[in-house]
Amino acid sequence: MQSRSTISRLPLPKQPLLIHKLTPDPRTPTKTFREVLNTNPSIQRRARLLAPEAHFSFVSPFPAEFPYAIQYEEADAQRAIDAWLAAREPKNPQSPNEQLCKYTRDQPTKAVLLGVTEAVLRDCLPHLDVGDALDVVGTPALVLEPDTATETANGPRDDLIEVLSGQAVLMSEDFSPWALRYSGHQFGTFAGQLGDGRATTILVTAPPNEPDKVYELQLKGSGRTPFSRSADGLAVVRSSIREFLGSEAVHALGIPTTRALALISLPDLAVYRETEERAAILTRVAPSFLRIGSFEALSPPQNVFIFGGGQQPANWEALRILGEWVAGPVLRLPEMQEPGKAWGSALLLEVARRNARMAAGWQAYGYMNGVMNTDNISVLGLTIDYGPYSFMDAFDWYHITNHDDAEARYAYRSQPAAIIYALRALNNALAPLLGAEKEKGAAITAGWAENVDKDKIEEWRKVGLEFKDELERVAQDVMADEYGRLMKKRLALRRSESADEATLVRPLLDLMAKHKLDFHATFRVLTDFQPGMVPSTKSNGTSTVLDTFVERLLAQAPIPSGLDRSQATQDLREWLGIYARRIEREADAWDGDLNSQRTTAGRAANPRFVLRQWVLQEVIAAVEKDVVRGRRIMAKVLHMACNPFEPWGGENVSETEVGKLSAEEREERRFCGFGAKELLGFQCSCSS
Ligand code: AMP
Ligand code: MG
Repeated sequence: MQSRSTISRLPLPKQPLLIHKLTPDPRTPTKTFREVLNTNPSIQRRARLLAPEAHFSFVSPFPAEFPYAIQYEEADAQRAIDAWLAAREPKNPQSPNEQLCKYTRDQPTKAVLLGVTEAVLRDCLPHLDVGDALDVVGTPALVLEPDTATETANGPRDDLIEVLSGQAVLMSEDFSPWALRYSGHQFGTFAGQLGDGRATTILVTAPPNEPDKVYELQLKGSGRTPFSRSADGLAVVRSSIREFLGSEAVHALGIPTTRALALISLPDLAVYRETEERAAILTRVAPSFLRIGSFEALSPPQNVFIFGGGQQPANWEALRILGEWVAGPVLRLPEMQEPGKAWGSALLLEVARRNARMAAGWQAYGYMNGVMNTDNISVLGLTIDYGPYSFMDAFDWYHITNHDDAEARYAYRSQPAAIIYALRALNNALAPLLGAEKEKGAAITAGWAENVDKDKIEEWRKVGLEFKDELERVAQDVMADEYGRLMKKRLALRRSESADEATLVRPLLDLMAKHKLDFHATFRVLTDFQPGMVPSTKSNGTSTVLDTFVERLLAQAPIPSGLDRSQATQDLREWLGIYARRIEREADAWDGDLNSQRTTAGRAANPRFVLRQWVLQEVIAAVEKDVVRGRRIMAKVLHMACNPFEPWGGENVSETEVGKLSAEEREERRFCGFGAKELLGFQCSCSS
């Protein structure tokens, strides 16, 4: 049995793998961070451009209603604001271990634990003791009341709620929570400094059996940071539920993503969107939350003027430091093992490969991100930032998941192109560094661009941009390979044939699009297909079996009324004929019974449960109406999303036999259905 610690006693990683190698905001250095909290905490809450060399800013979580209700005389503003904030910042140090000290607030807020993900504990944090926090079903006890918070928060579960709700903050001389600085291209336009406006990394830890692997724990919705601009730094319950369930659903499909450890609501904290809502904090987990936009912040595009901010200066030294960090501990590129070896182009290509694999996963599983701005594209190739995302219902090449994406920039079909666009932005940001490395034939060193004139930088930039074609080729190749591999799996095929994409995959998708068949349900039914169902021209086999099978496929039209049954039947029979011959050609690749083996393999690659928009809406409504009941439903949906390939809800039980299922199984069966017509292909908005 592995020894486990409560969250505030988790050890920091042994290796110096903390982000502190990068450059903090000069106005909030770690060593004096607690002084900042006691004297002028407004530094952390005030929207401002960070110094050009800074990669991040130390900041403590601060979930509070915004605008802050501070009363002051104009002449006394600064002092009054700082005094008001200081009174609410974490103090009261307790020393649970020798590494981190837990600071608590005098005026905590009520926090309700809505869910904890067992799979994340298992995969990333096996050494974290959460007490009985996993038993969320119908447990009113998972609430930390303000009056008892500090006295009772000693048990593992209360400790967890306190830290993950931003009520308690873990700090030391060398460690404080932080928010990242980044910029980004939003819908094709450079937007200047963005940064973690509502996310704060509160802890870094390494699983004891894998000390090289680190995980950052990041709160999303935990209050303002220097990057919040005019916004509140908070998140609402509905969007947090979407991210909580969405990231685990994407992970379970084998697509790289940030993970979701826990979801907490703050029922006494109001958040103002279109209407008044309640606040929630999601804890997400990833080895790093750096994005392509992190590089763009240090090397902004040329001649782009930001409204009110003029042209943002580049900082070449900060670019080198970030690059070495990402090439080293984040991506662990082999180039970094050899001192002095150039790493810039290897970094660029590795980010390309990783994001290409991720995008192939999205395409193969009908996941649509909705906001593929470069600040939302991870350098690790993780799906990040679950805003207006969705999974495909009836297949549509042109589906737009984001209601506000009028130009269809991030439509399903455009996702691969949007990834290439983001990779080009990374190429642009790194270009001078790539050129300098190429000229030197070795890694650049400290001060590499000091006393270098503008013309030289431009000369390097030009050389660096010559990587563009290779970058695109690598990204396209990896995307095509990975997509081919995944679609082969979805069709339960063992070997690859070069014509598969053109003769099998694309025609199937076109057929689904033409007849508005459901993407996931069609694939799931196809796992029962057997080539013997297609009567051969030689034999006089009857086609009844095939007719029955085609009927089953036609039942995967979520809106049956619009279906042209005879045309769809003809198209499906034709395609199944091609599929049957393709399967037969590789029959020798399987040992044992071809049909049962293919069904087993197919089911492990095609989800029975898909986190559809209607399911999300139902969970959200349930949680908002009644926390205890809603929490039970959400735990069930999370469990299904984490195990999507199981035959949920008596999959093989016919409709006439449904009565024999338990109430629980009937509910699961319902969650595997298409849901209400209005929510099919539902587009969501950005408000979160
Ligand atoms: P997104 O479109 O969610 O990727 O957000 C774009 C930028 O806006 C990022 O810098 C976010 O941190 C920031 N942002 C989004 N919502 C909020 C909020 N409620 N408060 C502060 N910053 C926010
Ligand atoms: Mg974002």
